Amino acid sequence: MPPTVNDAVFRIARWRAEFADRTIESHFNRHQLRHTRSQVRLALLFCAAFYVAFTITDVLALGFGREALILLAGRVVVAVSALVSCAFTYWYPHSIRRIWLGASITEILGMATFALVVLFRPHDTPWHAMSISIMALVVYLYIPNRLLYALAIGVISTVVFVALVVWLDRLTGPELLTMSMLLLLSNGFGCMAAHRYALIRREEFRVHAVLKNLSERDALTGCHNRRYLQQELLNMELSRARRFKLSLAVVICDIDHFKAVNDTHGHAAGDAVLVTFANLLRSLTRDGVDSVIRYGGEEFLIVLPETDLDGAVHLAERMRGALIGAGTEVAPGRVVGVTASFGVTAVNFAHVEQRFAQELLVDQADRLLYTAKSSGRNNVQALQFHGSPGAGERRKAA
Ligand code: GH3
Ligand code: MG
Ligand code: MG
Repeated sequence: MPPTVNDAVFRIARWRAEFADRTIESHFNRHQLRHTRSQVRLALLFCAAFYVAFTITDVLALGFGREALILLAGRVVVAVSALVSCAFTYWYPHSIRRIWLGASITEILGMATFALVVLFRPHDTPWHAMSISIMALVVYLYIPNRLLYALAIGVISTVVFVALVVWLDRLTGPELLTMSMLLLLSNGFGCMAAHRYALIRREEFRVHAVLKNLSERDALTGCHNRRYLQQELLNMELSRARRFKLSLAVVICDIDHFKAVNDTHGHAAGDAVLVTFANLLRSLTRDGVDSVIRYGGEEFLIVLPETDLDGAVHLAERMRGALIGAGTEVAPGRVVGVTASFGVTAVNFAHVEQRFAQELLVDQADRLLYTAKSSGRNNVQALQFHGSPGAGERRKAA
């Protein structure tokens, strides 16, 4: 999921029906991967079974001789390639490139074997034309692949087929023209339908990303909301810190006497002060690493991965100091200044092994915030977290 969602991020390169931004395109492919894996397995196994089953038509047309055996060998190679491509989806479940590679190789082998069928059974040319039309549609629509690769395989194999038919000289001029137009039609419609399908899936992804982003962010400040913290972020960061035995810090801060700002200057001025505070918190944290969450009305929570208590206290002090120097102009010539109180806690999984409920860490930071409030406000209170509430050594930072 991209950190910010706007229309420019989701621009589509229409001719290749992909997101212009490579990172977004790769997010999209990862998002679809589970679906793509099952589609490619079903499509390739279905094609492999039919490819081998058509051996019966070779035997009926050619008798059971050398040529039928060569065609059988070709068909088996296609089936094996399809099976290996399916196996790829299990061996490399996270690689969309290997899925495309497997699909493309199987399609190329399928088309090459089909050229042999045409060579050995030239009297069935009109039937072959029908088959290659269907195969082109399968390549465009049914086997998941990049549109560009499907287009290259579809067009080249159709051109090779037509060249082969011309060389075999079995059709009259009008028959050849009719066949070529039919092939043009199936390639054209197949490509257009694949293009449309690719665009629709990307539009779905865009809408999904926009809605997800809206559901995870606060409209006023643009910070993450509490729901995102509780449903995703905290759990994810705690598991990561636990797995790699890292330290994780949490800072809760709350603007002092904020009600007085609203009462004196109005709600809109209060909103402007909140935006200033949120921007200040974000500007002092690491982009893409730390997260600033609007935890309540004028209360913010900051999650700091790979940060110990000293680092978090240092940061909270910088935030406190920066806020003192940052006024908000709520009306021409009228600047409102506020202070904030901070509660800071950190857990180090190199020392704390036991599992604990994720709320305990936030609860401890919250209690420290209230200590900061009752100690006169505009100060930072910190305590190392040891896995259970209150089991730590108190440290007053400011
Ligand atoms: P303390 O120092 O103890 O934190 O006092 P306080 O006045 O900041 O805290 P209190 O809980 O009494 O008041 C918080 C106020 O924040 C009350 C509420 O109307 C206001 N508030 C909450 N959300 C918003 C918002 O989105 N915009 C504005 N303008 N005000 C908000
Ligand atoms: Mg307050
Ligand atoms: Mg509050």
